[in-house]
Amino acid sequence: SQPLTIAEFAKKIGKNVTEIIKYFFNQGLMINQNMVLSEEQVGELALEYGFDFKKETSLTKENIFEQLDEETDSPESLQDRPPVVTIMGHVDHGKTTLLDAIRDSNVVGHEHGGITQAIGAYQITTKVGKKITFIDTPGHEAFTEMRSRGANVTDIVILVVAADDGVMPQTEEAIDHAKQANVPIIVFVNKVDKPGANIPKIKATLMEYGLVAEEFGGDIPFIEGSAKFKQGLDRLEETLLLIAEFGNLKANPSKLASGTVLEAHLDKNKGPIASVLVQRGTLNLRDVVITGSTFGTIKSMENENGRKLSHALPSQPLVITGLNEVPNAGDRFLVLNDEKLARQIASAQMLKKQEAERIAKQTLTLDSLKMHL
Ligand code: GDP
Ligand code: MG
Repeated sequence: SQPLTIAEFAKKIGKNVTEIIKYFFNQGLMINQNMVLSEEQVGELALEYGFDFKKETSLTKENIFEQLDEETDSPESLQDRPPVVTIMGHVDHGKTTLLDAIRDSNVVGHEHGGITQAIGAYQITTKVGKKITFIDTPGHEAFTEMRSRGANVTDIVILVVAADDGVMPQTEEAIDHAKQANVPIIVFVNKVDKPGANIPKIKATLMEYGLVAEEFGGDIPFIEGSAKFKQGLDRLEETLLLIAEFGNLKANPSKLASGTVLEAHLDKNKGPIASVLVQRGTLNLRDVVITGSTFGTIKSMENENGRKLSHALPSQPLVITGLNEVPNAGDRFLVLNDEKLARQIASAQMLKKQEAERIAKQTLTLDSLKMHL
């Protein structure tokens, strides 16, 4: 295959060439735009910048440059995908209860005994037949961490505010995160059943944060309800679907899959288990996946209900086994159906990681030395 220079590569994926040069510069590599990229570097950049590979043939070291997909998918290749929703808010305001309530009122049948523990995400099919994916962020920190690595997994944020408690520090934090991520916000005023509920006060306070309710001329939907008593859930779902439709959320399912790791852990018997969210393309059983500094061939795929899957589409969360090591939450993954190439990229990433750790340690030692001088 015809190798690409950095300039040609940048053009192909629709990035500014200086951005790529800066990326390598930050790793201590002095390069210029006329230098030719190695196959490993292409894989690394794919992980970093999240671009995709075509699906027609399997990806090999020989054809990696031709298989690089253009930044923009052709309009006819795009299909609707479900919105990916994150619930945020102050502790005890009812995030988990809301997630459970939405899930309970939609899930049909539950199959136990698979690899699924807490997947950290699930997908529902609403009464009108449309799907919505919910992500259960363990905390705002994880959300920020993912975003700082460029993993923008969320399309819509639901901000949960307890009607009896009002806007609290973590509510503010959540607003900041949602604003930084530049995604639409829906306010779910929860616990309206409680005696101390003061909805007008919440609306007034949130206005100071720029979240203006529709009735006051703003564009933020406020939904009043109770997660505990399953009130307001239908309206919440309708509003999510409306926003999704407005956002024209689409993805091309006809390419090698890429997405983000949501959670991962080591299972004594099954090895590394990862919950992942497919964001583009279609993920298939036995695909070779690379993520962070690890890789592997997918041995099993299950949805959040423990149902075995043979493939997964954009916006679908699932659990996979087959990776050689436990990846990090927030790591991007991509399919590269060439095990040898995947291994090379993974080990190059591993070396980089070790080098970064070594430098960090050195700096630390140096700092502590200086302190003692
Ligand atoms: P989280 O920390 O935001 O995930 O909050 P939880 O979902 O764990 O809820 C904290 C507490 O509030 C639990 O005891 C819930 O049962 C309770 N709770 C949640 N939603 C409601 C509600 O709508 N009404 C009432 N009265 N209690 C609720
Ligand atoms: Mg919770």
